[in-house]
Amino acid sequence: MVASGIPARINAMLTRSAKDTIPPRLDTHAPAICVLASGSKGNATYLSDGHTRILVDSGLSGIQIERRLAIRGISPVDLDAIVVSHEHSDHIQSVGVLARRFNLPVYISSDTAAASGKKLGRLQKVVHFCCGNSFKINSLRIHPFSISLDAADPAGFTFQVNGKKVGIATDLGIATNLVKSNLSDCAVLIIEANHDLDMLINGPYPWPLKQRVKGRSGHLSNQDTGHRDRDAHR
Ligand SMILES: [Zn+2]
Repeated sequence: MVASGIPARINAMLTRSAKDTIPPRLDTHAPAICVLASGSKGNATYLSDGHTRILVDSGLSGIQIERRLAIRGISPVDLDAIVVSHEHSDHIQSVGVLARRFNLPVYISSDTAAASGKKLGRLQKVVHFCCGNSFKINSLRIHPFSISLDAADPAGFTFQVNGKKVGIATDLGIATNLVKSNLSDCAVLIIEANHDLDMLINGPYPWPLKQRVKGRSGHLSNQDTGHRDRDAHR
């Protein structure tokens, strides 16, 4: 996970040292963006504009998500919704559990919901969004847009937080022009880069898996992310 403007190498050091420190507590009534988990073991981001608090994806166990919110001073009962980017398990593992436990509406595209199958379980409140069409959850304005990934209808998002644009796009296969234009002018940008091209090519993965990670529907390399990051600031 790369915070915009921070080189990947430094960001990796920050991430490593962050494991050894207790994360700062967040004010539930203040705007905040907090990556609770990132990577193939699970993804979840907490986002608040100070009035509306959501999770973008919930890909760890429900207990883990609750614990990671709690050490930041956030109770799940303060949440207003869960927004889902795509159906991979590392993004939706506890969406259903938390939605049922805390009576949270789930915002998801109809294709992603269909592709999730039984993984979500029975949901009380579901709101379908369409990529390209903005929607609001209470005070929070959200714009979902299509990204390239091996999922049914994968989405990235931008949010209006205190008049500033915040972008979240994990699991990016390729930074298409659509992605670039959606993520331009973001004050805060959370994008995922999870492989070094040389390490991938020379590493132990079988060739088909290398192709998938490297391909248009796989994951953005650290180099691609660097280019995307630089482009965004032009
Ligand atoms: Zn995924």
